[in-house]
Parts: sequence; structure tokens; C-alpha cells
Amino acid sequence: MSDCLAEGDKCVICKGPVLYKYNAMPNWDIKGPLCGKCYSQKIYEHYPGEHVRVNLDKE
Ligand SMILES: [Zn+2]
Repeated sequence: MSDCLAEGDKCVICKGPVLYKYNAMPNWDIKGPLCGKCYSQKIYEHYPGEHVRVNLDKE
């Protein structure tokens, strides 16, 4: 498998390209960058009561 995405980071959850890199919280036990989608998903899983805004529209 060739690594065509050497230039950019890959999301550790969905393996998709990370346009804007989010860092997982230390207590999430996740190492590596997250894309905005997975980050907000994780935020929601860990902090369902909190409203955390993630700028998904940013390109
Ligand atoms: Zn992702």
C-alpha cells in the first residue's frame, strides 16, 4: 500500500484526510489527529451534555 497522503495527516478513527487537525483529549485514550467530524463525535460521546462547537465549515 503506497502512502499517498504523506503530505497530510490521517484521522486515526475514520482514516480520512484531516483538513483541520484536532487533538484528542488525554482521557480519550486516542493517539493521533482527528478530523473535525470524528472530534465532534467524540466530544458528543464523552460530553453529551455540553455544547461544543466545532468549525466544520472551515476548509
Ligand atoms: Zn475522522
